Amino acid sequence: MHYKSKQNLQSLILKSGRERSLNNRHPWVFSGAIKTLPNAQNGEIVKVETNNKELLGYGFYSPHSQIACRVFEFSTVDILLDATYWKEKVHQAYRLRMLLISPNTNIYRLIHAEGDFLPGVIIDVYNDTAVVQLLIKGSERIREFIFEALYEIGLKFIYLRTKQNTQILEQVGVESGWVNEIRSMPIEAKENGIVFLIDIEKGQKTGFFIDQRENREILGNFSNGKKILNTFSYSGGFSLYALANGAEIVHSVDSSKDAIEMCDKNVAINSFQTKHKSFVQDVFDFLQHMDEDYDIIILDPPAFAKNAKAVANASRGYKNLNLSALKQIKSGGLIFTFSCSQHIDRDLFRKIVFSAAADAKRNVRILKQFTQPDDHPINIFHPEGEYLKGLLLYVE
Ligand code: SAH
Repeated sequence: MHYKSKQNLQSLILKSGRERSLNNRHPWVFSGAIKTLPNAQNGEIVKVETNNKELLGYGFYSPHSQIACRVFEFSTVDILLDATYWKEKVHQAYRLRMLLISPNTNIYRLIHAEGDFLPGVIIDVYNDTAVVQLLIKGSERIREFIFEALYEIGLKFIYLRTKQNTQILEQVGVESGWVNEIRSMPIEAKENGIVFLIDIEKGQKTGFFIDQRENREILGNFSNGKKILNTFSYSGGFSLYALANGAEIVHSVDSSKDAIEMCDKNVAINSFQTKHKSFVQDVFDFLQHMDEDYDIIILDPPAFAKNAKAVANASRGYKNLNLSALKQIKSGGLIFTFSCSQHIDRDLFRKIVFSAAADAKRNVRILKQFTQPDDHPINIFHPEGEYLKGLLLYVE
């Protein structure tokens, strides 16, 4: 579908009194707030209107979702949603990234969905390659404009990565694959001058955990001469920063064999083999049985709470994990502890770590609080876009 000059958009009309969250620029319209459904297909752009037929904005319609419409533009006047409109969104996001990303980094998130006013779109850049995730039908329908903009900003390769559950739930029709030319895996890219090999086809997420860049830099500042344990290491993001900043020894632990293989390769291309050891092992198990005296432990587990119902179980998981590390770390040691579960907010995470510290019966102080980096912006009207939190603990 093309949204060219003649726009004939259907209206989604809200129940009276239900426009408040839209007046506050929250981009989600829940199905319960709708008085009259638009006569539109999944993914079509609709006009969102008050009960009095006043225009509030434009959004992607998702008739099968609880979030029935995701607004990408708040406006009380008509706007032409043509190719230029969509391409400009990508260019705007790119201009912001060029302010944020230093020249020795070419790994960054270009589009962070609602955080860049583009619901249903995630784009990560690795050197000259963009990995595009289209999470709703609406974003699938504008994909050609997005691709054009990516080529305009100088990217050479585009890989589309879709998740099977999105394809079913949101009826996104595109399959994973290269949009144009095929590249062989892994590709090479750099973060703060450190080279990483990245498999964007088979790796986790879009191939790399870009969201820990700033926190890895902070670890680097503490690493000189230290013995460091990096748990849930994946391809060695934190490990490489520690090694590049003079760590005496770094151990990386991950249950995925593929992740550890990539981690070993990353250590090798940066020539740090003599100071690094890796373990394909369950972290809980490793922490129970470890005998080294580490100065620093990093805990960066996957999201234990994938939805609101899982919060109680996930909280226990985070508590056990932190308790194990708090019991084991040597006196005067540091723990970098994280949670990327959106459903566990900053306050709850801190309470969980507090409760682990109380059980460990040790003096624990918070030296720093971590968050997601600046290329994962949080739309102030959409707090759901905030997900990564962490603490730097000093343990006596
Ligand atoms: N810190 C990493 C990202 C971690 S993602 C980085 O900066 O790149 C979470 C990782 O935990 C994944 O690689 C996954 O394979 C691993 N994992 C999940 N459960 C695990 C477990 N019980 N034991 C060990 N590793 C686990």
